[in-house]
Amino acid sequence: MTLRARFAPSPTGYLHVGGARTALFNWLLVRKEGGVFVLRIEDTDRERSSEEHTRAILHGLEWLGMDWDEGPFFQSQGLERHKAHALQLLDSGSAYRDFSTPEEAARDREEEVAAGGRSRRARQRADAMSPEEVAARMEAGAPFAVRFRVPDGETAWEDGVHGEVRFRNQEIDDLVILRSDGTPTYNLAVVSDDVDMKITLVLRGDDHLSNTPKQILLYEALGRPVPAFAHVPLILGPDGRRLSKRHGAMAVGDYEKQGILPEAMFNFLAFLGWSPGDDREVFARQELVEAFSLERVLRKSAIFDLEKLRWLNGQHLMRMPTEELLPKVEARLREEGVLPAKGGPAEGAAAAATDPVPLDLPTLVELLKPRSRTVEELVAQARPYFLDELAYDPDAVRKHWLKDRQETLGRLENLLERLSAAEWTPEALEGAVRGLAEEMGVGAGKVIHPLRVALTGVAASPGIFDLLMLLGRARSLQRLQRAVAVLRSGKPLDFRGDETLS
Ligand code: GLU
Repeated sequence: MTLRARFAPSPTGYLHVGGARTALFNWLLVRKEGGVFVLRIEDTDRERSSEEHTRAILHGLEWLGMDWDEGPFFQSQGLERHKAHALQLLDSGSAYRDFSTPEEAARDREEEVAAGGRSRRARQRADAMSPEEVAARMEAGAPFAVRFRVPDGETAWEDGVHGEVRFRNQEIDDLVILRSDGTPTYNLAVVSDDVDMKITLVLRGDDHLSNTPKQILLYEALGRPVPAFAHVPLILGPDGRRLSKRHGAMAVGDYEKQGILPEAMFNFLAFLGWSPGDDREVFARQELVEAFSLERVLRKSAIFDLEKLRWLNGQHLMRMPTEELLPKVEARLREEGVLPAKGGPAEGAAAAATDPVPLDLPTLVELLKPRSRTVEELVAQARPYFLDELAYDPDAVRKHWLKDRQETLGRLENLLERLSAAEWTPEALEGAVRGLAEEMGVGAGKVIHPLRVALTGVAASPGIFDLLMLLGRARSLQRLQRAVAVLRSGKPLDFRGDETLS
């Protein structure tokens, strides 16, 4: 039998982390088994549903790369079928008309609370009513709801995650399936749609566990095959409380705006309640399709850990081909005015005026990729490479220049001389730097760290020889000269207005 699974979000909000995780588990299983992934928008709550939310949900799925095979279907389009199913249940005696007045219903509820169980009072009143009276009331237009007659006994299923789950039917309310205004309730609409769409697996969040026995009873009463069910665990924040806004953004779209890569989000969502059983953590989409199975979905709640998302993002960034990353970085640098606007009048002119040899952006991206967790971080690190006048980071200056300023100045002056004379190859540059350290009887770090601050303004960067090659002779020497001048003059450094070198 072909696996037919569905994702059935209500467009009453954006695509949130929990919903996306449910969609993902369904999608992974379907893609693994060559099944059909159906998308159904459950928009029967007209007041709270909106087109904007529907669009955001579809966009979120597309962004994450979860394509669907059928749909999107809209639950509201199935109203007539939902009603027909309710009528079928009425005809077969599996449901009854409930003419209870609001007062009677309120009394029933009080009684139920007092008894701590289900009273079945509405059922008793309905059963006591003769067919003639029912007909007369209907004739008079008296409002009634249609309630499902929950049979005696137990309802059990083999849950794909939890194993056997049992409910005693006496604990289940005779649920309303059609309201007195003729609209179907959630449980009826879902069962009617799942029957219609020939769904064979219902995989959804644990919050639906208590709906499942009701839905199984409805399938049975309709004489339809019951699909398999699997309930995935809740998602909690790192503090062990149910995931909510206070733990960070809930909408998948917010992460997209923050520069999280869809591959990283996809990987992250898969680990919310699933593990491959070994210590692998970084997976591409297709690798997840292969590795995923319901057996490895965990029963205990999943913890939402933003740090892990950022880490995964860095891992996926590192694996991303530079040519794919490049346009994103370029666009951000243009937005910030670090690079001239594309095709703008400044483009060629500015580059020619300041950069005799334009900086090799692909190489820079290549070097920064393993050192960044997000595109934003990469762009922030890339920025200084394009500046004519570096701003020096105060902490870096304090640590690597000012601790022993005279010695540092001496080393940088000497270095300037050697690099000016050196052939511009990684080997020659390395020879010059290490040779100087040796002659001065200091560790190479004592030369490399001050040089790094001179070249980048900051204390951390890719390897120094890669850096010198990237910046090129003219730019590197210019930066080194400026550092020497700044250190020599002892004039206030522009890294912070109120600070001086002495
Ligand atoms: N529309 C329901 C929800 O958003 C899901 C229904 C289902 O998966 O059965 O929670």
